[in-house]
Amino acid sequence: MTKKITVLPGDGIGPEIIAEAVKVLAVITADMNLAMVFEDGLIGGAAYDVFGTPFPEQTIAQVQEADAILLGAVGGPKWESLDISVRPEKGLLGLRSTLGLFANLRPAVLYPQLEQASTLKPEVVSGLDLMIVRELTGGIYFGQPRGVRVLENGEKQGFNTLVYSESEIRRIAHSAFQIAQKRNRKVCSVDKANVLECTELWRQVVTEVGKSYPDVALSHMYVDNAAMQLVRAPKQFDVMVTSNMFGDILSDTAAMLTGSIGMLPSASLDANNKGMYEPIHGSAPDIAGQGIANPLATILSASMMLRYTFNETEAAERIEAAVHSALDAGFRTADIYSEGMHKVSTAQMGDAIVAALKG
Ligand code: NAD
Repeated sequence: MTKKITVLPGDGIGPEIIAEAVKVLAVITADMNLAMVFEDGLIGGAAYDVFGTPFPEQTIAQVQEADAILLGAVGGPKWESLDISVRPEKGLLGLRSTLGLFANLRPAVLYPQLEQASTLKPEVVSGLDLMIVRELTGGIYFGQPRGVRVLENGEKQGFNTLVYSESEIRRIAHSAFQIAQKRNRKVCSVDKANVLECTELWRQVVTEVGKSYPDVALSHMYVDNAAMQLVRAPKQFDVMVTSNMFGDILSDTAAMLTGSIGMLPSASLDANNKGMYEPIHGSAPDIAGQGIANPLATILSASMMLRYTFNETEAAERIEAAVHSALDAGFRTADIYSEGMHKVSTAQMGDAIVAALKG
């Protein structure tokens, strides 16, 4: 059956980088006879400008019908003064909650050709390939009660609630173990079980789920140690699974180990592996419209889509190999450029990937 992909370019550099990812997908799907159709939609500021809301009914219907969603980025100075309820970022939150995308996958891969972009020593990061699986729809970011209250003595007090039910922990743990089965079969669960009862339960449930995956080695680590280990010896990790807030922080740390924000894709999946795929970077308004943005994070997001939603491993591997070839051949957008390399535009980088796929 033909698969339907909703393409949401969004704002800033979104349309420029998405065009290159769609170009690459068109080539690989034609070449491998994969039946996929692409339908454009509006989200973020681009949707607000037309409909007065960042996540309009029309887009809601489109993403509900789709098998997967490919998104560029949202936001920019034009919409920063809007009421928070209609800011572009609300479109993303709406999409995640409408589709129940609870598993956020953030790989951090250091390409050997870009070793010098990392601030860490080459021997510490060279060959780095880890995956952070972050719970995305629960935990302290959503827990109730929350707010700021005034105490009897007149002092204000801010409060939030860290809460996870067994079923929420169980489903993210299953995601992590299944992903590890497709990689190096190691899961490190990150918690703060020595201080927080909620994460004590997290540890118990992950351990129990782990018994169903005897082929995957499970370890546990406190979050403070995990932060330290990520910069001390990041190659010890394969898959890390953790809660919403810990994952938010650790995944940005892991991203920076690679030194190049324009190279990193992400996926957010539901229980059936329907997913939304997007680069980890934002809409980069400072370079929007100049044709110089790096499209590789978006192209690699498309490759994750082929792997995780459509199980088209070979097609995903071919795109990843094409990215390696283009880097080997010296093609670099401005953000990853170094002396002696061949500086290219957004579209030229897309063309280089297409050429590598065809070659
Ligand atoms: P950003 O990621 O957009 O940009 C940070 C820096 O990285 C900028 O200097 C930018 O030019 C550069 N950069 C980012 N992507 C690049 C690429 N593909 N190629 C080359 N350089 C790239 O973060 P920001 O500046 O903090 O935010 C800009 C806007 O994006 C804000 O409105 C923010 O809310 C939004 N944002 C959206 C998302 C998303 O859509 N998921 C994520 C983060 C930020």
